Amino acid sequence: MTDIDPRTVLLLTGIMGGLMSLVLYALKRNYPASIQGLGEWSAALLVLFVGGLLVAGRGKLPDLVSISVSSYLLWCGQYLAYVGSQRFFGASPRVAPWLASITGLALVQVWFTLVEPSYHMRLVLTTGVTAGLSGVHAWLVARQGSITFARGLAAGVLLLLLAAQVMRLVTSFTVPFPANAEFFDTSSLQLIYITSFAFSVLLFSISAVLMATDRLRIELEHLANHDSLTNALTRRHMDDACRSELERCRRHGRSMALLIMDMDHFKAVNDSYGHQAGDQALISFVARVNALLREPDQLGRFGGEEFVALLPDTALDEALAVAERIRDACTLAGPAPACTVSIGLTTNRKDNDTMDKLLARADAALYRAKAAGRNRVESA
Ligand code: GH3
Ligand code: MG
Ligand code: MG
Repeated sequence: MTDIDPRTVLLLTGIMGGLMSLVLYALKRNYPASIQGLGEWSAALLVLFVGGLLVAGRGKLPDLVSISVSSYLLWCGQYLAYVGSQRFFGASPRVAPWLASITGLALVQVWFTLVEPSYHMRLVLTTGVTAGLSGVHAWLVARQGSITFARGLAAGVLLLLLAAQVMRLVTSFTVPFPANAEFFDTSSLQLIYITSFAFSVLLFSISAVLMATDRLRIELEHLANHDSLTNALTRRHMDDACRSELERCRRHGRSMALLIMDMDHFKAVNDSYGHQAGDQALISFVARVNALLREPDQLGRFGGEEFVALLPDTALDEALAVAERIRDACTLAGPAPACTVSIGLTTNRKDNDTMDKLLARADAALYRAKAAGRNRVESA
């Protein structure tokens, strides 16, 4: 262990952290603005990088800079990383009280550097601040719903950092310091303490990049699977969902229903109330139908004013009842212009039923509903 020079470890990991700051800055520039926190993470890494450089200059730079300014930067950098995570997860940071506390503690630290120099008291302050910050940060990351690899990594790294700080804080009271102890002494304890901090910064920045990439993937998937006007599912998604549901029905001998819904005389709705009111009618239709459907049911928009609902585990009579409820809900008065809907529905029959066959049968039923006067439900 004593062959490892902590100053070199700190410098190398510091430089890598500085590069990760650039990576996060590039992501901030290129990712959609809806992904928040990247700027704060990038700035945090830059501040930590500069703070780390000053620490590495211990003995070569004045103590006020290499001990006090560097600590202040390292604490601010950690707090900034926490703010980045708060923004990323949609929490609103309360910067003033935190910054005031950190600055106050930094002034106490200056006291123990210049006025009443105490290596032990400075160690207590630094490990205490870092433990506190990594603790709240880990708690923030860990409580964001189901765990992913990226968030697990971030929370794990922060918890390890917390553990290393607590270890160093406790041992500073129980294990006697070597003679002339200083920051870069090569005791195993000090080495673990320094390297764990440096690697935590690096690993946290990697987990931040992964969390942002996860978020981007989720947003892109949402865009690909949802219609931008009504937020109903897209045809692409419905095709996949229908195919896998048919496969499930085949395996388990279940029944599923497919509804095609087409607004009646929608051209006239647009002509009388305007296109924007027509849009509102479509949005309100989707909201009303979604409110009626069960959790496993899926509603997609197939064309302008044409929608398809997929109802797993549903027999014909149940599907007819659902369709009637949809027809009723559609005619209720609301802020959007009133309109009616015609519905054609079918259920799966033979083992070799396909999405296309189901759609064709439901479409034929819809055609009959239209021909019979609209505002009706017909089944194949
Ligand atoms: P039918 O009862 O036979 O279905 O008559 P219809 O007028 O609803 O049928 P048609 O297919 O002739 O016209 C559909 C209309 O839906 C025409 C189009 O302007 C309107 N439409 C399609 N997409 C949108 C949209 O996104 N917003 C609005 N406001 N109108 C749309
Ligand atoms: Mg229509
Ligand atoms: Mg139509």
